[in-house]
Amino acid sequence: MTDAFSLPPEAAEPRLTVAATTLERLRTVPALAPRYAGHPVGVRTLGELAALPPLLKDDLNTALTHLEPRAEAAATWLFQSGGSTGAPKVGYAPTGFYMAGVHAHWPVLDREDVFANAWGAGRMWGAHFLAAALADRAGCRVIALGSITREEYPDWLAFLADRGVTAIGGTPSVLRLWFAHARAAGLKLPSLRKVLWLGEAWQPQLEEDLAAVAPQARRWGMFGSTETWVVGTNTPDCPADTFHPLPEQLVHAGADGLLDFTTLDPAMLNPVLRYRTGDAGELTACPCGRPGRAMRVLGRRDNVVQVRGLGLHVDELVARAEREPGVSRAQVVITEDGGRATGVEVLLLAAPGAGPDPAALRAELLAGTFTLSTAFQHDPEHVTVRVADALVSNDRTGKTASFVVREEAS
Ligand SMILES: [Zn+2]
Repeated sequence: MTDAFSLPPEAAEPRLTVAATTLERLRTVPALAPRYAGHPVGVRTLGELAALPPLLKDDLNTALTHLEPRAEAAATWLFQSGGSTGAPKVGYAPTGFYMAGVHAHWPVLDREDVFANAWGAGRMWGAHFLAAALADRAGCRVIALGSITREEYPDWLAFLADRGVTAIGGTPSVLRLWFAHARAAGLKLPSLRKVLWLGEAWQPQLEEDLAAVAPQARRWGMFGSTETWVVGTNTPDCPADTFHPLPEQLVHAGADGLLDFTTLDPAMLNPVLRYRTGDAGELTACPCGRPGRAMRVLGRRDNVVQVRGLGLHVDELVARAEREPGVSRAQVVITEDGGRATGVEVLLLAAPGAGPDPAALRAELLAGTFTLSTAFQHDPEHVTVRVADALVSNDRTGKTASFVVREEAS
């Protein structure tokens, strides 16, 4: 069982005192206490840890509402951690955002760098601030860009080129916009070496734009959530879906293929004890050769969505659409009426200056996707493909999911 953990027992078990303290805190939460009854009071071994029930986002928010943790010697920041309904769910962190550990193990930025921080700031988003904390540790120059509008790309790109920007960071969706606009405008960022990303899976199409705009640039990834903060990092030598966990993050791959995370950092404010982000994954050796177990993230389990009783693999559909010439990004929008899918629409974001052919792609998707052709056998007109000005994004999280479900107005 212990081989399902990122650390061997001799490295992890002496630090499980932190997990034991987290368990004590969780037992004080009235709504969560019953689930820990019958488990040992402490946590001494990896086996005992694996026997504890996992926590989900709602559980963690229930716990935070009760515990209201506060940082010892800094401000306590509230960041939003998404959630699909109601008010934003929150995660807490002290100033610094635990980035000292990331800086110690991830040699991405140094004093010579000029770093453009393109993660959105404000609206309780965390990534901009944690990237700023990393830059602070590195002692580099920082350009706090945040998010910009479509018309502003050319001017800002010219500014970044003038300033000799060596590093840029953002979610892959946002980076895609930056590099697609640069490519369309024929602008180059010759000094750019490092592309930092966090928040979504890497998009392989970015490599094509990077090759044209910034041929020296390589990707550097972080994996984490607003509950766990940064769990692991990778370098250009690692596959884009494989991350090396930080020593203060204990990663567990369950028998069901889902990852869960336990903090070994006594300063962590969120009670992260077998916390599940919903990501599936496995522990593996990284081809980069760095010793120790790496974590391969296989994507979110919830990206298979039920359409008229059949499982639709949204990521496969999106990947197929994004292979189409002239398509910059794609998104699946499922319309439901009382829980039944009434239509599936694939939205396409055209690459600047390109005009993809929605009709041809629709025919290909219908013919090649068993779920679509079967579920819509009698009303294929409800499967549509169209070019849109923008994809549907979540205003609260700033993320653009690969699929969106909408309730039909009745
Ligand atoms: Zn590696």
